[in-house]
Amino acid sequence: MQEDKQIKKCTRCGLCASVCPLYEIKPSEKTIARGKFLQLLGVLKGDLILNKKIRDNINFCLNCSKCTQNCPSEINALELFASIKHKNLTFIEKILNSKFAFKFKLSPIKFIFPPSRKLSLKKGEIYFKGCVPNYSNFGENTCCGLPYIASGNIEAANTMIKKNIKIIENPRVKKVYFDCASCMQTVANYPFKNPEAIEKLVLLEPLYFPEDKKFSIHKPCHMSQKEFFTLEETLKKRVNYISAYDDKNFRCCGFGGTFFIKHPLVALELCLRNAQKFIDLKTDYVLSPCPVCTLGLRFGMWYLKFIKGKKHNVKIKQY
Ligand code: SF4
Ligand code: SF4
Repeated sequence: MQEDKQIKKCTRCGLCASVCPLYEIKPSEKTIARGKFLQLLGVLKGDLILNKKIRDNINFCLNCSKCTQNCPSEINALELFASIKHKNLTFIEKILNSKFAFKFKLSPIKFIFPPSRKLSLKKGEIYFKGCVPNYSNFGENTCCGLPYIASGNIEAANTMIKKNIKIIENPRVKKVYFDCASCMQTVANYPFKNPEAIEKLVLLEPLYFPEDKKFSIHKPCHMSQKEFFTLEETLKKRVNYISAYDDKNFRCCGFGGTFFIKHPLVALELCLRNAQKFIDLKTDYVLSPCPVCTLGLRFGMWYLKFIKGKKHNVKIKQY
């Protein structure tokens, strides 16, 4: 990839500012793709050194891909950041972004939230377990690779991608179910030899409906708007469904990837704003097709109730 050519496609239209969840919290040019590109262009030209300050700016990102999804110049910001990070990984960063370090960072979450249910699968159907699996039908797949792509550890990501492609392209596999929109989006972008393999990928629909209670859905950043609105059309037929969004107000849970470990205060701010939105809607349940969003929302609800003293009975459930 020629990074400078990609960056020069930026027309500075500012659309990435209007969709970046972090810009709401830290409204600075350095927060958004456009500003990060400018710094990177300086580095590529040799005018700037890729020092800690610039690295930290590039890493101040939820990898939510909203800038990429909405960029009229079709610049894949995440691919660009990953490629530049990959070429400039320091020895310490290589250790911190290794498979071992990632597993270690996630182990407390997996310990607190072990998978508690089993998905009923037919012959030829498999469940794609992500970092924080919700179901215990563990197959042979490995991580989708997103956390490694985002951190610039492309070698590790490629090993995982190769292994998963082999599993998914196996003719015996007819359907691959995902309970994580981020894994699903990452896998859908794999370089499959057989492009029809993409048709096997299915994001699970809600399996649980609180029939006598009001419920809403939290849309994860990596679930496309098209996918979400299709799901909403079905849900709107249920009298107890409360839509939480219009076209613009999708809000990130703040827990994307390992962002909450690196920037706990910013993650907390985002997760509280999100939780408050559902309390204001007076919904009883919030369902989410993402284990990490579920975690973020649960924490937000708990924090508002027990630390901030807000009375509410909103329950968060992954579907
Ligand atoms: S949306 Fe794309 S083209 Fe517009 S300013 Fe952001 S990066 Fe540049
Ligand atoms: S990926 Fe998300 S958080 Fe990162 S710069 Fe783009 S919109 Fe902002």
